[in-house]
Amino acid sequence: MLEQAQRILKDVFGYDSFRGRQGAIIERVASGGDALVLMPTGGGKSLCFQVPALLRDGLAVVVSPLIALMDDQVATLEELGVAAVALNSTLEADQQRDIAERIRRGEIKMLYLAPERLVQPRMLAFLQQLKIALFAIDEAHCVSQWGHDFRPEYLQLGQLAELFPEVPRIALTATADMRTREEIVNRLHLQDAERFLSSFDRPNIFYRIVPKEQPRKQLLAFLAARKGDAGIVYCLSRKKVEEVATFLSEQGFPALPYHAGLPAELRAYNQKRFLNEEGLIMVATIAFGMGIDKPNVRFVAHLDLPKSLEAYYQETGRGGRDGLPADAWMAYGLQDMIFLKQMLANSEGDERHKRVEQHKLDAMLALCEETRCRRQVLLAYFDEDLPQPCGHCDNCTDGVQTWDATEPARQALSAIYRSGQRYGVGHLVDILLGRDNEKIRGLGHQHLSVFGVGNALNDGEWRSLFRQLVARGLADVDLEGYGGLRLSDSCRPLLRGEVTLQLRRDLKPQQSAKASGSA
Ligand code: ADP
Ligand code: ZN
Repeated sequence: MLEQAQRILKDVFGYDSFRGRQGAIIERVASGGDALVLMPTGGGKSLCFQVPALLRDGLAVVVSPLIALMDDQVATLEELGVAAVALNSTLEADQQRDIAERIRRGEIKMLYLAPERLVQPRMLAFLQQLKIALFAIDEAHCVSQWGHDFRPEYLQLGQLAELFPEVPRIALTATADMRTREEIVNRLHLQDAERFLSSFDRPNIFYRIVPKEQPRKQLLAFLAARKGDAGIVYCLSRKKVEEVATFLSEQGFPALPYHAGLPAELRAYNQKRFLNEEGLIMVATIAFGMGIDKPNVRFVAHLDLPKSLEAYYQETGRGGRDGLPADAWMAYGLQDMIFLKQMLANSEGDERHKRVEQHKLDAMLALCEETRCRRQVLLAYFDEDLPQPCGHCDNCTDGVQTWDATEPARQALSAIYRSGQRYGVGHLVDILLGRDNEKIRGLGHQHLSVFGVGNALNDGEWRSLFRQLVARGLADVDLEGYGGLRLSDSCRPLLRGEVTLQLRRDLKPQQSAKASGSA
């Protein structure tokens, strides 16, 4: 069996050997067993069902939530000479009839379709008359109500187990946490599936996260050693994407913008240039990346904070697909946190969902302020244990200085409380440093007991401290107002003197820019 699989790998796909667990997965599914495949993006999930599809008799049915991805895969398969089609809502009725006819005649090997399509009674009845080689359920985490990709239609895919008891099913995902894994097994009735869990480690990626001071300057410093490299710069807003793309081009780094607000043709054109030309930088919102498979992306820079570690991992994971060194660099700041927290608070969705998203954001913030090996923390989030610090992230190579911030933190919390829990960091720092300005006078804050008590720290150090208080949940952002700070319940032990607080010492911007990555 494996020999036959090898031959297909070579003859059809043109590859010499299987990657990671591909061989074992293919063997399992080709011989009729179920499988749950957990593999990072870019790991090579598609072959895990495409090869068994060619090894087995009958029609392979592939469920995927994304039309664009389906069309991509079908186009690739067609080029390789594999009879594959995608059934989607953009087809005319007679085209659909034609496809059904070809399937009936056994001329189609692989059928891609959206979950809502598959579970239509007519479609299920149609498939039951045929010989089915296998069901592949791609992006299987869409079945999880906790993730942000939840698709109600995925829940209905559970019935395949009963309707097609003889047909092997393979569920694939790059979402790794234990809870999602168990949900997939339960909801898709994959109790008998063999589990293939790949490591999520991307050892060739160097992680660096720096506090945002002067983001453009910091970005240029980061790019200075990477002239001529292809890379992606992620920004949160469309406006910023365009500004940064223009800025970089002016600075001699050829850059293209990409966001959902650009005309479709321009988007497609920029994407094509990025893929085909050397040394371009794509400045993009998260709209960019789905299905992008450019092997030699040398860096992924974030000028804004992603909203979860899943997103951070996915986005940084677009670097270094060729296995050569790549850098993941991010600048983040208090404003990012406030913005994301506000966005979350104002988003649609029930309270439970918001709480889940809040936890995800907290995990992202914790990675930023982390003092241990970033890779260990990142992998631990995906329930994977890396026994030793990696030696290939900023915390490992530069070391992290911590300092006892207990007393200043109390002063900071006290400044928040005594000024009425409504002011932003700028004003709070003015209070602590005893700055005599109009706003202070107007509010009478020069009379507060905390006024001017904070001269042990400078402006930047106070800002760093406030940022870390928020990241650790010791202070909250006032979400109804203008992003002022409030006390949170968890700061009480600190205020009462029951615990101490160690914080990261931020490097000065010039230091953090100088400290080099893998380059
Ligand atoms: P995923 O779906 O896990 O994100 P893909 O299936 O799209 O990943 O594969 C990512 C890239 O790796 C594709 O370009 C694919 O052709 C390539 N690839 C997959 N398996 C192999 C292999 N055994 N040898 C060489 N390249 C492979
Ligand atoms: Zn490390």
